[in-house]
Amino acid sequence: MPFIDLNKKETLSAKQYDFVIIGAGASGIMLAVKLSASGKQVLLVESGHFSVDEERQQLNEVTHSSKKLENAVWGRKRAVGGTTLAWGGQSLPFSRIDFTERDWVNNSGWPISFDDLEAHYKMANEFMQIDTLDYRDDILPNIKLSPAPDFDTSVINYHVSKWANEPNFVNLYRKQLEQQIDVVYNAVLIQVIKEGTAITAIQIANFNKQHFTIAVSGRLILSVGGIETSRILLLNKLGNPEWVGKCFMDHPCIEVGLVRTSNEYALQRQFNTHIWQGRKYSIRLSLSEQVQQEKKLLNCSGTIMFTASAEQFDPYAELKAFKKDFKIGRLFKVSGKSIEILKSVIAYIRHRFYYKINTEAKLLLMMEQEPDTGSYISLSDQVDIFNKPKANINWVITKKTWETAVSTAKYIERELERLKLGTVSLYKHIDLDTSSWSSYLTDVNHHMGGARMSGSEKEGVVDSNLKVWGTDNLYICSCAVFPTSSHSNPTLTMLALANRLHQHLLSTSSPV
Ligand SMILES: Cc1cc2nc3c(=O)[nH]c(=O)nc-3n(C[C@H](O)[C@H](O)[C@H](O)COP(=O)(O)OP(=O)(O)OC[C@H]3O[C@@H](n4cnc5c(N)ncnc54)[C@H](O)[C@@H]3O)c2cc1C
Repeated sequence: MPFIDLNKKETLSAKQYDFVIIGAGASGIMLAVKLSASGKQVLLVESGHFSVDEERQQLNEVTHSSKKLENAVWGRKRAVGGTTLAWGGQSLPFSRIDFTERDWVNNSGWPISFDDLEAHYKMANEFMQIDTLDYRDDILPNIKLSPAPDFDTSVINYHVSKWANEPNFVNLYRKQLEQQIDVVYNAVLIQVIKEGTAITAIQIANFNKQHFTIAVSGRLILSVGGIETSRILLLNKLGNPEWVGKCFMDHPCIEVGLVRTSNEYALQRQFNTHIWQGRKYSIRLSLSEQVQQEKKLLNCSGTIMFTASAEQFDPYAELKAFKKDFKIGRLFKVSGKSIEILKSVIAYIRHRFYYKINTEAKLLLMMEQEPDTGSYISLSDQVDIFNKPKANINWVITKKTWETAVSTAKYIERELERLKLGTVSLYKHIDLDTSSWSSYLTDVNHHMGGARMSGSEKEGVVDSNLKVWGTDNLYICSCAVFPTSSHSNPTLTMLALANRLHQHLLSTSSPV
């Protein structure tokens, strides 16, 4: 089935689909590929085309009424492939504690547990073509990190995240998208039509501003990302109005200090990027469940980033460039640095990590954001090119996030120094009394919340099967459904939910 460019269409066929999915990003592609592989008729509707451009991206414009997101317009991609065109593909499951109700974390608790998702995490890793080993004990020997440093596990966990070799889902699944699925692109969802409790049709528009109505005879799934989900629900008055848009979250990030050592090789061996089977692995230090409970903190993890100045010699980059483009000048540069190159090659071959000399070691944190109803998405008084109100973002971070940052920085400092891996100089503002603490935190395009999953209709927007409460056939598959955010990169958990949803949809028939 060839891709369908809606800009070149006057009418659409009246074909009936089991599933209409809006959004050909990470979750939309996974659902479409899996459902069509199970013999289902799937229509995938995507606002972008096969590359990003200003006209499509301006649909991402938002207004802000509180702390600003760094890049809401370009930090989400309007294209076939969605934000997988830009993301790093770093994956790490949430921890058990993230799913539990914690009496010290407002609005915490998922209606499902880690055990409900465990098998789906493996399937999500498989879909991303990442190994399915666990994120610590199984993987560490392969990246020559066994035994792990002797961190006090009652305080800090030492584990890894995995990066996909090919993060772009169009590159991974183009054949399936083209052969198994009807993908209509340049097609923007404009309206969702509901009769009683059933979604019966949608209206989409192309960039010539022509409108098309598509009947929904099966189930409709919104896979439009963490911000657009709330916007579409609000525009169409769908879902529990008490909760739609509420508890918007990102992962607040911060650089907290520098790690100094007399043994740069040993420090980088434990904390710099490792490589196995062509994949990258990053070392993460996360706050133990025990400390979170005892000190009433959120989840949080730290990484050490090794940065060199732009002028500094980068042995891997030089060798790569030298291999690609042989030049005499480059030969002199490389041969004058033979010791550096040798050390880097040994690190790579013997211990499977990137070693760079004379770098600055920065300690960075990525934090869970406490879900708070004061942090929300609403509709703006400005409109987009289709005359629809833009999303307004009211991003608010509670003080608990700052307390978590300060405490985690100090726990990591204590452990690194106890293990004699380095000494940590925390920046002066890493202090509970810092008054403008929120200005030090940045977002990382991990948009979560706004359509939270809940055990009862009164407490959220979707049920544990991701069906919008009060509807028969409307589902949401994006990080918008997360009740809490963990410190882990979110997409793997969203893909695990997509896999679980796919199984649920196959095991139930459409009610309409
Ligand atoms: C630079 C960068 C790096 C990142 N790195 C990581 C990482 O390493 N690990 C990680 O876990 N996460 C990372 N993320 C976040 C990750 O990209 C997102 O969590 C993920 O892509 C979300 O998937 P999604 O399917 O919900 O949304 P998307 O992938 O954004 O897809 C949504 C799709 O819906 C379409 N759409 C929206 N509205 C409409 C509409 N009205 N009509 C039709 N179509 C519509 C959009 O055009 C888009 O194609 C990163 C993000 C960025 C920007």
